[in-house]
Amino acid sequence: MATHPPVLFEEMAPAALKRVRVLLPLPVGDGYDYALPQGVTATPGQFVRVPLGPREVIGVIWPDTPDETVPDTKLRPVTDVFDAPPLSSDVMAFVDWVAGYTLFSRGVVLRMVMRSGQALASVKPQTGYRLASGAPPPEKMTPQRAAVLAAAPTADAPPLTARALADTAGVSDGVVRGLIKSGALTHLDIDPDPPFLPPDPTRAGRALSPEQQAAAHFLKDLVKTGSYSTTLIDGVTGSGKTEVYLEAIATALEVDPTAQVCMLLPEIGLTLPFLKRIEDRFGAPAAHWHSDVSDKGRRRVWKRVADGSARLVVGARSALFLPYKNLQLIVVDEEHEGAYKQHDGVLYQARDMAVARGALSGFPVILASATPSLETLANVEEGRYGIVHLPSRFGPARLPDTDIVDLRATPPERGEWLSPPVIQAVNDRLERREQSLLYLNRRGYAPVTLCRKCGERMTAPKSDTWLVEHKYSGRLVCHHTGYSIPKPKYCPHCGAEDSLTPCGPGVERVAEEAAARWPQARVEIFSSDTMLGAGAAKSLLKRMTEGEIDILVATQAAAKGHNFPNLTLVAAVDADLGLAGGDLRAAERTFQTLSQVAGRAGRAEKPGLVMLQSYQPDHPVIQSLAAQDRDGFAAAELEGRAGLGFPPYGRLAALILSGDNEARLNETARMLAETVPQAPGLEIWGPAPAPLYRLRGTYRIRFLVKTERGISIQQVLKAWLTEVKMPSSVRTTVDIDPYSFT
Ligand code: ADP
Repeated sequence: MATHPPVLFEEMAPAALKRVRVLLPLPVGDGYDYALPQGVTATPGQFVRVPLGPREVIGVIWPDTPDETVPDTKLRPVTDVFDAPPLSSDVMAFVDWVAGYTLFSRGVVLRMVMRSGQALASVKPQTGYRLASGAPPPEKMTPQRAAVLAAAPTADAPPLTARALADTAGVSDGVVRGLIKSGALTHLDIDPDPPFLPPDPTRAGRALSPEQQAAAHFLKDLVKTGSYSTTLIDGVTGSGKTEVYLEAIATALEVDPTAQVCMLLPEIGLTLPFLKRIEDRFGAPAAHWHSDVSDKGRRRVWKRVADGSARLVVGARSALFLPYKNLQLIVVDEEHEGAYKQHDGVLYQARDMAVARGALSGFPVILASATPSLETLANVEEGRYGIVHLPSRFGPARLPDTDIVDLRATPPERGEWLSPPVIQAVNDRLERREQSLLYLNRRGYAPVTLCRKCGERMTAPKSDTWLVEHKYSGRLVCHHTGYSIPKPKYCPHCGAEDSLTPCGPGVERVAEEAAARWPQARVEIFSSDTMLGAGAAKSLLKRMTEGEIDILVATQAAAKGHNFPNLTLVAAVDADLGLAGGDLRAAERTFQTLSQVAGRAGRAEKPGLVMLQSYQPDHPVIQSLAAQDRDGFAAAELEGRAGLGFPPYGRLAALILSGDNEARLNETARMLAETVPQAPGLEIWGPAPAPLYRLRGTYRIRFLVKTERGISIQQVLKAWLTEVKMPSSVRTTVDIDPYSFT
């Protein structure tokens, strides 16, 4: 194109400005317009520094059309344009889409993308040293100097700092300094955020079974077509789902040498063996992204994802919001996991957002699970998602048998929690030197603490939450607010001495019972309270794998992903727990968790047994678990949901009002109730106090909105919320597709 309109514009008025819309990572509407100073060029996606009130903030030039009606004089100029790679149009389209779907502002969604904002700051490189090529040996040679020269990197090896070099050679810094001075070592800059080693997709994976091969083949073909699709790998635990999707990942990396792949895991803290497996497969570690990664580590990942050199990212749900340059495949492992739902800040479901990301950018998405969510199964049934099956465990491993223990017929002794059949089964395991896992998804010693004298139930201050006794730490702890106190000697209500009594079991109490019953056995607890940090978890997993533990008492922290070859018994202490949750997914979640736990048994050659202690042995969830009839369970649950118009056959959203001023809150709820929209296919329940009405002094009231699938629930909510003027003391939060009903 020969003409260039801005030139004309500039000639007319030397101070003429070009205006751009800048989205800021703040909850402030849709961004602001700024002027680009003359001579400065910038394109959408570029990071810029702009004034906002008295301060300066970093934002992104957004591809929105600026408002041309605002006079030039009103526009403040962009202060700085960063030369970092711009956000790709795909990432920006994704931010827009997520904001539109979740009803959070685009600014707060962008904030998730810019979480490692310091990645934009220039970081001073460190000085590193290498052997100077061709330099003659130093005149004065000492054993210390020889040690440094032997330790110094040569030619293309990454340089080391003087300190690292001294440490490696076991000498003082002075020796290294002397060699630098003599010219034997040359200096060069060390990149503070070095690129990741590229994964090698051409390395051979494991030899696949015919069943695995067929699944891998199907997925690889999809990856090669390079267009949008979502496919479920539906395979029992231990069937090799991971092996299969690693093949798809290899193909994506191979067909396009610039392609990036994002692999999501529900919880990344306990996945070191998994990361090792990826490294073995591709000959290079993946870039990791999760909350335990240091600021420096995050900066490196963010930068290298943005410049496209980090090609394989393994992370928790927030890895979806990294600034990918060329994302071409997303794999969501354990797609049914509730952990994919974000409960703070922007409330999003990462699995669903992953599918949206694939659809927006036109690439395949792979979901994997042994117990797929009902949403996903319905999507498969209706033809929106494809499916590949891996119906059997790899190699000699077989799925365990499942027995129901009817607690009404064979109850535990008074004050105990293990029934005679389970005790017998553990005895057998101890005799055969095999391992048992006692599963109870309850942290601490006892879920409720009551005063025997006055009946007072211990709760957190200004909250409706129970305090849970933790013997391990000697404290009563609130699992919602984190509040804790040493267990009091006197009842705070009636003053009675030593009257506070634990009610019900937690893992610590079951472990106490096991240790008393089997004093010769090695009993350990696997729970987030007793293992502080990934190191403790890793060492416990190692002891379990190596057979140094006989009985593991565990919460669901142990339910996932681990292979314990000598574990042949899994007993659910309270299989009914969670069935009565009163929320939409209670039965589904119980089924999934118990199947996952059951999947830990008999992973190797030895057959496994699963025992479900239940007071409701006829409950459909317990029955289908015993019959290993996942499809029967799913069909029955889906039918129930279809009848009620619940997801996946209808849409749900929660509107939560919260605030410290109870009267004002109730008044607002009443006003909203008066303006409840009416339409066919729309139902709104509430206002009702949230199950945890009072938390840390804040009151919460909720409405639940249900619509038929064809109705935009977002439009309904937006229209309704504009009807009522919200007082500033009342906060409204919209949760589209809510998972938590507390
Ligand atoms: P899933 O992801 O379905 O639970 P994995 O991929 O973790 O299953 O496989 C379970 C176990 O079987 C792992 O230890 C894995 O290394 C092994 N395995 C699966 N497929 C193969 C294969 N084709 N060759 C060798 N080992 C395999």
